[in-house]
Amino acid sequence: MAIPLVDLKAQYQDIRTEIDAAIDAVVAETAFVRGKYVDAFERAFAQVIGAKHCISCGSGTDALFISLRMLGIGPGHEVITTANSWIATSETISLTGATPVFADVETEHYCLDPAAVAAKIGPRTRAILPVHLFGQPAQMDELTQLAREHDLLLVEDCAQAHLASFQGTTVGLFGAAGTFSFYPSKNLGAYGDAGAIVTDDDDLAMRVRMFANHGARPGDKLDHQFEGMCSRMDGLQAAVLAAKLPHLRAWTSARRVAAARYGEMLASIPDVTVPAVRPDAEHVYHVYCIRTPHRDRVQQALRERDISTAIHYPTPLPLLTAYERLGYAPKDFPVAMHHAQTVISLPIYPEITSVQQRQVVDAIVAGLRKA
Ligand SMILES: *Cc1c(COP(=O)(O)O)cnc(C)c1O
Repeated sequence: MAIPLVDLKAQYQDIRTEIDAAIDAVVAETAFVRGKYVDAFERAFAQVIGAKHCISCGSGTDALFISLRMLGIGPGHEVITTANSWIATSETISLTGATPVFADVETEHYCLDPAAVAAKIGPRTRAILPVHLFGQPAQMDELTQLAREHDLLLVEDCAQAHLASFQGTTVGLFGAAGTFSFYPSKNLGAYGDAGAIVTDDDDLAMRVRMFANHGARPGDKLDHQFEGMCSRMDGLQAAVLAAKLPHLRAWTSARRVAAARYGEMLASIPDVTVPAVRPDAEHVYHVYCIRTPHRDRVQQALRERDISTAIHYPTPLPLLTAYERLGYAPKDFPVAMHHAQTVISLPIYPEITSVQQRQVVDAIVAGLRKA
């Protein structure tokens, strides 16, 4: 039997009646864009995260763009972010008119390296944008400290880290705003594109809410205070997310159990480095990423056994064609380059069984043997 990277069908089978009822209700009430289901989900998600406000929007990418833009980031500014992430993290910086400045990552924890950030702070720096990559919180202690010392904004990309926490604080609450994606395969996934911003700042919350809905005050159909954009969550996504939200803690625990099982199964295998959890952090394992110098061979062996894997990510962001204009070279990011060549992400989802995981590990061992 094939083993997928993520098994959304298994999840649907488990909660089918709840999901179908949620979708039926939205359709029966034609509550298609915003409306009561969206309001209810925003309240529930804010509560789960522990934020004062949750403002939903069209995607995790929009959540980043809208947050940065409404925090006043624009032309002439620089935002320091990680060399290893999905392009949404950095393209939204450029979309505001600001320039992304990339810093290298930590060897074992894969997130933005605070020392590398410190070296890149300059007169144009306005913000630091860490990503809680793979579900592991970034080093928020030192990053918060740096932001404070240099009077910089802090915006967290939490797209992969729903419910992750560092020193007891849920990610999304450290800076001015935290942004979430509910892309279907994320730890909390909609049935289409969706995203949200969390913040404790009343004023920012209102500006973000208005910008995402054409600059109109909530309920004001007569006037627009400024030009914004159209980035709204639809009722179907909100109802699906609200039906799934009560399961998120249990699913997160199941991911941790699966990660611990992989850890045990892989512990004695030479040439494999399993993920290290930062002290005082709760990792939520959106991605289970290992490193091996024989990555391509291992991936091939898994493919031959119908086991899906992924590379997060094959090219560090600053070395993508999209950033040629910034003139970075591989030697600028030794850690991110090393990761790009050695990482491989294994199947992980709450429903994965120990039998499936054993098959994955056996295939890894077979791949390593083919030296
Ligand atoms: C998924 C993801 C995003 C973007 O989210 P979308 O909802 O797909 O727009 C942003 N940053 C990271 C790190 C992601 O993994």
